[in-house]
Amino acid sequence: MMPTSDTCPLCGGDKTSGHITFTADLDSGLVVVRKVPAKVCQQCGENWIEHEIAKRLEKLVQDAREKQTEVEIVQWHDAA
Ligand SMILES: [Zn+2]
Repeated sequence: MMPTSDTCPLCGGDKTSGHITFTADLDSGLVVVRKVPAKVCQQCGENWIEHEIAKRLEKLVQDAREKQTEVEIVQWHDAA
């Protein structure tokens, strides 16, 4: 039986839409993005970020690297 897209491939638990806190630890500093939409496993807590969102996070991290921000904490909606 093929697992559906809403089943966790790691533990077989249910994936539900939720939010995570994304953290990137750079040499120059730390970037924290709160309330990033993601699929989260109810059982083991593993999470998956959509490709589009991951690309935007990458850009945020890149910006912070260029600005050499020591600590940047943003909410996803401000960042998007
Ligand atoms: Zn799981």
